Amino acid sequence: MAPGPPTVVWDERFQEYDFGNAHPFSERSRGLAVRLLESLAASPGTPAIEWVRSVAPAERDVLETFHGPDYLDFVEEAGLSQFGTLLDSGDTPAFPGCYEAAARLVAGARVGLTAARERGAPAFHPAGGLHHAHPGRASGFCIFNDVAIAVTEAVHAGLSVGYLDLDVHHGDGVMYGFYDSGRVLDIDVHQDGRTLFPGTGFVEETGKGDGAGLKVNLPLPPLAGDEALLPLVRRVALPLLRDFRPDVLIVQHGVDGHVGDPLARLQYTSRAYAEIDRMLLDLANETCRGRILVTGGGGYRAESVGCVLARTGAILAGIEPPSGREPLPHGWRTEFERIVGSPAPGTWESRETVVHSPWRLDDETNLVAHLEQGLGRRFPAPRP
Ligand SMILES: [Zn+2]
Repeated sequence: MAPGPPTVVWDERFQEYDFGNAHPFSERSRGLAVRLLESLAASPGTPAIEWVRSVAPAERDVLETFHGPDYLDFVEEAGLSQFGTLLDSGDTPAFPGCYEAAARLVAGARVGLTAARERGAPAFHPAGGLHHAHPGRASGFCIFNDVAIAVTEAVHAGLSVGYLDLDVHHGDGVMYGFYDSGRVLDIDVHQDGRTLFPGTGFVEETGKGDGAGLKVNLPLPPLAGDEALLPLVRRVALPLLRDFRPDVLIVQHGVDGHVGDPLARLQYTSRAYAEIDRMLLDLANETCRGRILVTGGGGYRAESVGCVLARTGAILAGIEPPSGREPLPHGWRTEFERIVGSPAPGTWESRETVVHSPWRLDDETNLVAHLEQGLGRRFPAPRP
């Protein structure tokens, strides 16, 4: 069967997941990414995208596949009262309607997973990727873990899952949620937990029981940048995923590793993200019949979220993304200024100034040797 068109899941109501203007997390910047993707998709001759514009919140029984009933009661209750209750130790406040808003994001991930499975084509859920939520608690701006629920659904359907987490923060909710699962290969590249929330994701954490050897952490020091990211994705992540041969690939595509993000310091560039997106698409076609679900995730600088995620959506949809020097559409820039309240960037990569990376080949060699020891396998030699 020929693959269907790629799917993009975006319901305007995803923006009701809203902690208020003073909070760093905003679905409005995901909305800006979607507007940009729409403008790219509107050019004559571009491949068709299947848009899913209306998504009902996930039902309670779906949420219970990952979250505990007491926690769900707590969130539901907190969402009925006025703004103020904290759902975790400090970063994730409740707001009126937070239960439904978070449950709608969960449904978005499920819709994306179903589309990827049924069509054998990429699905993109830019509003999702809330990878910190645990079964019994909120964490790090994440109320319900939409990606973990999508992984659970795939596993319950008898599928094996290759999960790659590119967010600058360790995807603790997902990794520990499937720590002993032999069905889930979880690979997570992030800023070292000794320097950043949530303080987990060390090389020694490799899974247990059936999941032993299937949890893979690649912690990077601040400022490591593309010099660390790209070789490690090529040498470690792709060979592991290729050997595991998952039935479906699920990617948490946080963009808070992008240069200039105010909450972290990994300074990846748009080019590195685009290169990885292409590699993942090829890998999905090679190993799991094109079944790939890509979610958003962190990202606290509106232009990074807008431009990087729009490009990711374009690559997944088979649309040639614009070069970095191309101007951004005038109408989009106006909307950016209205929503963000600061001047819009002029071009797709106009604000990507990286500083010198401290990462050396020796650092890569040490990290890979450490991984080889923990996982009991060898990785390819570095590229010359
Ligand atoms: Zn993050």
